[in-house]
Amino acid sequence: MNHLPTTRYTRAGACRAMTLVAMALLTGPVGVHTQAPAPATLDIYWIDVEGGAATLVVTPERDAVLMDTGWPRADARDARRIQAAMRDAGITEIDYLLISHFHQDHVGGLAALAERVPIGQIVDHGDSVERDREQGRAIWEDYLALAEGRRRTVTAGDKLPLRRIEFSFVASHGAFIETLEPRPPNRLCATAVAGPVDQGENSRSLGYLLSLGGFQFLNLGDLTPNHEYDLACPENRLGVVDLYQVPHHGGGGAARPELTWALQPTVAVTNNGPRKGGSPASYAVVRDAPGIQDVWQLHRPLGAEAASNTDPRLIANLTEEDDCLGYWIKATVQPDGRSWTMTNGRTGYSRNYLSK
Ligand SMILES: [Zn+2]
Ligand SMILES: [Zn+2]
Repeated sequence: MNHLPTTRYTRAGACRAMTLVAMALLTGPVGVHTQAPAPATLDIYWIDVEGGAATLVVTPERDAVLMDTGWPRADARDARRIQAAMRDAGITEIDYLLISHFHQDHVGGLAALAERVPIGQIVDHGDSVERDREQGRAIWEDYLALAEGRRRTVTAGDKLPLRRIEFSFVASHGAFIETLEPRPPNRLCATAVAGPVDQGENSRSLGYLLSLGGFQFLNLGDLTPNHEYDLACPENRLGVVDLYQVPHHGGGGAARPELTWALQPTVAVTNNGPRKGGSPASYAVVRDAPGIQDVWQLHRPLGAEAASNTDPRLIANLTEEDDCLGYWIKATVQPDGRSWTMTNGRTGYSRNYLSK
């Protein structure tokens, strides 16, 4: 019985031949049939700046918006990490640099970045409210020296003129957008209290809401709990979102249930460092949000309560700062906004999600 091997051989040969024909058809004669390139994705990078902030948005048209620049460092570590993400996204310039507020972990890396990368407009919430304090004054004067002449101050409701995506500021200098459409009272507010008023820079933080088709990403910088309450109560001004950057590095009290649960994010990202942010209290609030599927973290928290934590596959960096190679987390949003993929820059591990 030798026909079986013969049959196999014949089939395999036929398959190869068909593949060659199919490839020739797909390739076509050179220059006769040029296909338009597939539209690029919307890419969002959470760059590891060790407990500071640097979130890079690159639109399908390759417009680039970076919010925050990490820490001041003699070795320009955080600027180099931002550059690495830019290379991955295939861009060479930042069109809009947003400074969420005037603290070192957000604006500190500006000088090093400006030396290395062309920056278009620099966007802020207005003058620093900490410029009369010693450290606040130094940060403010360094900022003005670099930003004067290309500075733009925005108020809540302003938009960035980006192609294809909607990019709206929802918070600036302690003021917020009005509710865009009538919404029912937020039941989570019934027992909530606003909490102490914060008068510092965190409370003035910029926040934005980005939309591409049905996909929505919300980034509130370091906005303080009392203002999270203002956005959530008596009604949730922001609606529901798909992807949410947990405010203030996910520190203690940073994620308020009234807002986090009303937003119903499918995925949340915490831009914490090994020993800054990523608190068990905020993690618990986010993990319990209705509809949440995953919480991604830039760092495994190495503090005392590190046991209360997310799936290790969703954590980009595991070590202390001195040993850290600074891997990013990346969101890749399909051009129609219907779905997106989250990827761990350290391992390449990824998960897919559907927009609401
Ligand atoms: Zn911060
Ligand atoms: Zn790190």
